[in-house]
Amino acid sequence: MSSLGALQVPEEPIIPFIEGDGIGVDIWPAAKAVLDEGASRFGHRVAWLEVLAGEKAYNETGQWLPPETVESFREHLVGIKGPLTTPVGGGIRSLNVALRQILDLYVCLRPVRWFTGVPSPVRHPEKVDMVIFRENTEDVYAGLEVAEGSAEAAKLIEFLRDSMGWQIRPDSGVGIKPISVTGSKRLVRAAIRYALDHGRRSVTLVHKGNIQKFTEGAFRSWGYDLVREEFADEAIGWEDCGGEPGDKLLVKDAIADITMQQVLTRPEDFDVIATTNLNGDYLSDALAAQVGGIGIAPGANINYVTGHGIFEATHGTAPRYAGQDKVNPGSVLLSGVLMFEHLGWADSAQAIVSAMEQTIAEGIVTYDFARMTAGAREVRTSEFAQAIIDRL
Ligand code: NAD
Repeated sequence: MSSLGALQVPEEPIIPFIEGDGIGVDIWPAAKAVLDEGASRFGHRVAWLEVLAGEKAYNETGQWLPPETVESFREHLVGIKGPLTTPVGGGIRSLNVALRQILDLYVCLRPVRWFTGVPSPVRHPEKVDMVIFRENTEDVYAGLEVAEGSAEAAKLIEFLRDSMGWQIRPDSGVGIKPISVTGSKRLVRAAIRYALDHGRRSVTLVHKGNIQKFTEGAFRSWGYDLVREEFADEAIGWEDCGGEPGDKLLVKDAIADITMQQVLTRPEDFDVIATTNLNGDYLSDALAAQVGGIGIAPGANINYVTGHGIFEATHGTAPRYAGQDKVNPGSVLLSGVLMFEHLGWADSAQAIVSAMEQTIAEGIVTYDFARMTAGAREVRTSEFAQAIIDRL
């Protein structure tokens, strides 16, 4: 990913990793073996540094997210993590959310593409090749909520009635949805830069602005403003060209509900997608399902200004399968591939993707794909990783 042109990568970067809870013990060693081999084939080397979070951290230190872990990610800029158990009833709502907030990782990046041989519920999964930029810091995820029946809710409802004339049922919980110029523009800026750097054809701003005019609608307007203010030479908004961008990158927009239909019926119309937090949440999982599901979908949380990035498996800890050497290491492995791209190691990234694609195309897959693929050979997590290494 050359979008981070400012990133100075040392010969042997120190990369902190969180193994992850549950199936972390299965998928992380498998992914790491492939990443190490893929790196070394092209003269790269990673100095892995284990840092703790989640259950493993709690058992060893009494803390779910030790400050040293956050410091390590802060210092080394780029890191990777397996899935983490969300503490129930603890002080932290979610470790993932905490990490994102502390490092202000404002982009949730989710590339969605199909690999030959991966079982899919749609007829033409090969047409799905999208990169989602989901805003990661605001919207209804900002955590500004008051519970039904609480003194805070009563106070807020009363204020809204007296000052704004808004009638809200007294037995309501109330949440606030902030969408800022700052948050929207930096997200759309990252998406446009990425599209330009990667030779993509379009960026679609996905929003619900027909109903939520001053939040979702504003996200759309600010996106188009940004194109005019900062990218006039390289990109053009639909409103300014009637859908005829010439040789410039086309920035268009689509309402979230119709987008959910069209990513299924006309996936070729979508390329890079920039969207608000909640829309992005739904869209990433819906799209991941089209190309094989969460077992293989990679993700990253990135701050393109500071260079901080945490690459992560997008699925959870699947405790039922923990320690069985059974599940698919694809999600965390492909997140590592994204990380290599981010470091500028495109050669290793490409080689790993090709080897994985070849492995799956030969029908060598873990249980989740095997049960949906006729004639497949089901292998263990570690065997799948070895098969990829053999094809590097
Ligand atoms: P989950 O993703 O852990 O598992 C749901 C199902 O998906 C599993 O039963 C399994 O059938 C399948 N699955 C998941 N990963 C797979 C893989 N690599 N290969 C094959 N199949 C796979 O979701 P859950 O059961 O809702 O959550 C379990 C725990 O994980 C909870 O504590 C939750 O909070 C946490 N969680 C963490 C993250 C994260 O760290 N990013 C994300 C989601 C959930």
